[in-house]
Amino acid sequence: MDISFLVKVLSFSKKERKFMVKIDGTYGEGGGQIIRTAIALAAITGEEVEIENIRANRPNPGLSAQHLHAVKAVEKLSGGRTEGLELRSTRLKFAPGALNGFEGEIDIGTAGSITLLLQCLIPVAVFADSETKVRIRGGTDVKWSPPMDFYTELFLKAIREMGCDVHLDLKRRGYYPKGGGLVEAKIAPSPSHQLKGIVLVEAESKRTGEEVVKGISHSCGLPAHVAERQAKAAESVLNAAGYDSVIKIEIENGGGRTTGCGITLWKGYKSGSALGERGKRAERVGEEAARNIINELASASTVDVYLADQLIPYIALADGKSEMWVREMTKHLETNMYVTKKFLDVEFEVEQESGFFAIKIIRNSSY
Ligand code: ATP
Repeated sequence: MDISFLVKVLSFSKKERKFMVKIDGTYGEGGGQIIRTAIALAAITGEEVEIENIRANRPNPGLSAQHLHAVKAVEKLSGGRTEGLELRSTRLKFAPGALNGFEGEIDIGTAGSITLLLQCLIPVAVFADSETKVRIRGGTDVKWSPPMDFYTELFLKAIREMGCDVHLDLKRRGYYPKGGGLVEAKIAPSPSHQLKGIVLVEAESKRTGEEVVKGISHSCGLPAHVAERQAKAAESVLNAAGYDSVIKIEIENGGGRTTGCGITLWKGYKSGSALGERGKRAERVGEEAARNIINELASASTVDVYLADQLIPYIALADGKSEMWVREMTKHLETNMYVTKKFLDVEFEVEQESGFFAIKIIRNSSY
């Protein structure tokens, strides 16, 4: 048995164990993120968890396909047992086992977000004993979730800095409503199951010297001019705000498999993105993404609001100091802090500075 893993599990454990962690799904954002973070941290810490009122604040409460497949994947990875694991279920009990990597295929079956499924799977696979290799079918660029290019260009970059060895290969994009996207993920266990803290207290462009806004404008099953017009519109809004940009165009034919388009822009750890939809002009899509990133770049923050909430469990699991600056305390951010504190003996210190909030991690007694 790998003793370092055992040591890590014990150090994650709260002193006053062993009772089931109870999570109220109505807390804060009241969406699917509560499930993903709770299940991932339950698997990593070895705690049993019960989640009630799942996605209570959404118009269609209960588990959707994306959440269901995320929990199933972690169930496999951790040899765990789950009660209430069915579509639309509003209550879930999960008892994890030992974390072994796994190889397999997951078909969300809808345009359910692949990146959101990975949000639950990646941290668990990082703390497993062997490599995880999985092919996931579903949506790659769908509403209310991290676009694929945000995932590869911002999120993976940040967790790699923390010591995670994760590779995603985008085989095909999938849009709402058909989905049909395909991503291959390869996740190696982190050496001795230890992550490094991440300190982001100056603009990433200063650290890297990168001054240009980069981006990808993509479409599938639509005329080529759509992705080109999105990029052009984004470029002109960025230009007017004083930013140079380099935006790649990606056009797939798709053969009727899926139809859609979108654009993601990034600079350092900040992004702006937008998706096309029927009746929405390509220019509006490009302009929206540009305005989103300009809004982030105007702040003295060091990460955008999305990356901030997604890094919360990682900075809590990592050893050492972590700090990031975000322009706004979102409900997703507060919700992820709430769920993370249920499993790990940590506190988050949030200080309001002029124009941003500084988030630091404070470890409690068991560290
Ligand atoms: P629900 O259907 O209940 O809304 P969900 O599982 O789809 O649930 P949420 O709980 O709303 O999702 O969590 C959404 C996650 O997606 C958050 O981590 C958020 O940061 C991320 N996200 C949403 N939009 C973007 C975006 N444009 N760029 C990057 N990340 C995003």
